[in-house]
Amino acid sequence: MAHIAFFAPNGPGHVNPLLGLATELVRRGHRVTFAAPESFADRITETGAEHVPTPTTWKGQGEAPQMHGAELIRAMGSLLTEIKVVHADQVDRQAPDLVVHDATLAWWGRLLAHRWGVPAVENWPNLVSNKHWSLHHDYTTIKPMNPRFLLTVFRMIRYARSQGYTDGGAFMTGTNAALRLVTLPKDFQYEGEAFADTHLFVGPTLTDRSFQRDWTPPSDDPVLLVSLGTAYNERPDFYREVARAARERPWHVVMSIGGTDPAELGDLPPNVEVHAQVPQLAVLRHATVFVTHAGMGGTMEGLAHEVPMVALPQMAEQRANADRIEQLGLGRALDPDTVDGASLWKAVEEIAHDPSVRERLRWMRGRIDEAGGAEAAADAVEGLLDGGTATS
Ligand code: UDP
Repeated sequence: MAHIAFFAPNGPGHVNPLLGLATELVRRGHRVTFAAPESFADRITETGAEHVPTPTTWKGQGEAPQMHGAELIRAMGSLLTEIKVVHADQVDRQAPDLVVHDATLAWWGRLLAHRWGVPAVENWPNLVSNKHWSLHHDYTTIKPMNPRFLLTVFRMIRYARSQGYTDGGAFMTGTNAALRLVTLPKDFQYEGEAFADTHLFVGPTLTDRSFQRDWTPPSDDPVLLVSLGTAYNERPDFYREVARAARERPWHVVMSIGGTDPAELGDLPPNVEVHAQVPQLAVLRHATVFVTHAGMGGTMEGLAHEVPMVALPQMAEQRANADRIEQLGLGRALDPDTVDGASLWKAVEEIAHDPSVRERLRWMRGRIDEAGGAEAAADAVEGLLDGGTATS
């Protein structure tokens, strides 16, 4: 039995994709500790792991920054603050045998694994980039020579060095990890084969989520789930339009509206229910169509349940996911700036029973099954426990 220490940042879209692996490692008899902010205690405890509460300087709700231009630089600054705070909080813990951490944000995992001299496993819950395909090439506008960008990168590398992590490039990219897991099937990744030697695509690793309540449909009408995720969800005008257009339609609509004030939506028709948070997997089990912001967590959950999706991306990474949904025939991508109730419902009704979308969803479900999920991820992690490569 090994001690495996998980590290995740303050974001459900980053914590949830780690829960399946934690559950499987506990089931195999390992001691799993899982460091994340207090608000995730329930879902972590449900896996059988020990929750280690960590501080956070990030608000859980509200508009998140766009990940390019000046907003990306601001986001990198706030990531550096978070890295310092969480690293300082965790650094004096007893060393585990192996570290598993979210690769996109929980970079304190890189520093800690290095300090402890144990292998680091990175978990990528989203599209990955290399010279063959890169989010920054196709979807964002980073200007690498921008002095503010360079200064922020310099500050991040300087901090890593001050903690004994001398390879600044590896700190920024994660290339020193002993294993890089990606919680999507390789077929969803753009240029997936070009990543086959460096990344292990295990697909989504969903858990029961009994920490969330169950949900059953109140009628026999088809169910439409509408969720813009946990970060970019303050769109009262959009929710009002969807609800207004739902009146007179033979559908039951479940809307997750995050921090939006329900009073802003006005009188709701009887076939529309709104919640700050919904038990998303429980609703997806009954859903006919999923209107999603195309965050990768929700996208994978929709695909795992074979639910056709209408994607309304709210930021660059989600635009890449939305385009991939459409390109692979798994649903539609609409422009969130021009969509209205009529165009949204038209797309919903068209894909609800489209046989070609159904067939593509079945194909993707097969790819997900082949990817192996939490079991494949746990096999690879255990392979590192006896003589795996430690980080430099
Ligand atoms: N989620 C949920 N209920 C909600 C909204 C979101 O359970 O009302 C979960 C969802 O199942 C997913 C995560 O929160 O696992 C959101 O991750 P995603 O990558 O879809 O989007 P983000 O919130 O990071 O933009």
